[in-house]
Amino acid sequence: MKRCVVIGSGLGGLSTAVVLARHGWTVTVLEQGTQAGGCLQSFVRKGTKFETGMHFIGSADPGQTLHRLLRFLGIDGLPLSRLDPTAYDVVRLEGEDFAFANGREAFVETLACSFPHERDGLHRYFDGVEQVAAASSLHSLNASPSALARSMEMQTRSVNEVVASIIADPLLQRVLVGNLPLYAGRRDRTPFATHAFITDFYNKSAFRIAGGSDRICALLLEQLQQQGGRILTRSRAERITCNDHQATGVTTADHFYPADLVVAAIHPRRLLDLLPDTPLLRPAYRRRINALPETVGSFTVYLRFHPDRLPYLNRNYYVYDHGGPWDCEAYTDADWPRGFLYLHLCHEANPQYAQAAEIISYLRFDDVARWQGTHIGRRGPDYEAFKDAHAERLIAAVERAFPGTRAAIADIYTSSPLTYLDYTGTERGSLYGVEKDLTLGAACHVQHRTRIPNVLLTGQNVNSHGMLGTLVGTMVTCSDLIGTERLYAEIRDAGHE
Ligand SMILES: Cc1cc2nc3c(=O)[nH]c(=O)nc-3n(C[C@H](O)[C@H](O)[C@H](O)COP(=O)(O)OP(=O)(O)OC[C@H]3O[C@@H](n4cnc5c(N)ncnc54)[C@H](O)[C@@H]3O)c2cc1C
Repeated sequence: MKRCVVIGSGLGGLSTAVVLARHGWTVTVLEQGTQAGGCLQSFVRKGTKFETGMHFIGSADPGQTLHRLLRFLGIDGLPLSRLDPTAYDVVRLEGEDFAFANGREAFVETLACSFPHERDGLHRYFDGVEQVAAASSLHSLNASPSALARSMEMQTRSVNEVVASIIADPLLQRVLVGNLPLYAGRRDRTPFATHAFITDFYNKSAFRIAGGSDRICALLLEQLQQQGGRILTRSRAERITCNDHQATGVTTADHFYPADLVVAAIHPRRLLDLLPDTPLLRPAYRRRINALPETVGSFTVYLRFHPDRLPYLNRNYYVYDHGGPWDCEAYTDADWPRGFLYLHLCHEANPQYAQAAEIISYLRFDDVARWQGTHIGRRGPDYEAFKDAHAERLIAAVERAFPGTRAAIADIYTSSPLTYLDYTGTERGSLYGVEKDLTLGAACHVQHRTRIPNVLLTGQNVNSHGMLGTLVGTMVTCSDLIGTERLYAEIRDAGHE
């Protein structure tokens, strides 16, 4: 038995802990917060549950990629509620709705109703999405060399460039990138591959997590405990201790946890904070990590509705008032919000009506930086006024798009990038951690291996963010310890129905 300390109990930390515990490691997970889960946390106000960072997932039908991973992790009992397969995502542009339907044919034909002259282009676009997704890490053991080469190419070409090379209609080009907020995509910077993974993930099938995303956390914790692992909340890792060659353990405020392996499921910059003076990390490595770009942060309004007022919308809306999906992060004070993601949450007992909704829009960290260092709930009246004013602007935008919403609102809650900084330790409260920016090439790639042989990284910054992206990162990190062939064989075996 070898001792492993995992720092951070988000999806990345917990899934890595489960896999390692199953393979004979004695695992302790240290979590700084009072609750486990990181972005898997839900919170309850007046009996209504809200999501913080996992609103919907995809590819979870039997045989699909995420379903295989959930089975492998032993959490495929996760209760799911399917989004409308004829319109799981709706992009509202220039006042018109454009739906994304599940499955290739339905996706193409639904959009071809509005863009019949682009039917061939839509097929070619879909080919591109599927080919890139099929060559991603989880599939790559079976992927052909030509698929891998295509995938590599799509890491170096931007979403806008590839879409414009396939689709001539400028409105359809904008519609197809309507889901940009799911990866905080930026013009000329975000690789087409990032867009393709996420579009393919949800196009295969799309679900909310019935009962809240904290169910994922609860199921992972159950698995961890069954394998003899443990989690300690209110246990902030403050330092990783090293000898001349490697790490020897992790220190919290009041305890030292000896370790043969340390897995940091936190932002790589936070890992550097835990290793302030070891010569094992060279200055060039520190400089590179410190220079990593971050995705933009977000401002979210959580609405609790009066019961039985608003019919439940079983889909996500991406609404753009100012031209379209691109450059929404470059807002000015005068034109914020340039766009928002609007989604309903329903009561399982009464699914015709929305119980709650969330409105998510970009907000740059600099807008709230002056309150950094203040405490949650005690940041002062000027911060409250800032949040109220932003909430009002978002609610007004929703009311314009969905008249009648305001009258159904019972309570309003909000969060800003500071909330995420304090709850998850994500650098500058960014939505998805480190940004994939093709103009920086390998400089924005986070290796799971650090310069210290027994300190590894896992979580959304290795590989990619999101339910699938983070779990693929877990597989990358764990396969290094367990063996790629063995791990992938276990995933394949678990996937057999
Ligand atoms: C607003 C929002 C909406 C999203 N919606 C979706 C969605 O609908 N679908 C989807 O697939 N993905 C979504 N995502 C992305 C997804 O939630 C994340 O990519 C994923 O959950 C990240 O998991 P993680 O383990 O890497 O990090 P985190 O969840 O951030 O976990 C990191 C954990 O480490 C802890 N920690 C940090 N420092 C220390 C320390 N020193 N000691 C101990 N503990 C520490 C933190 O408290 C935290 O619990 C969303 C994200 C956001 C922010």
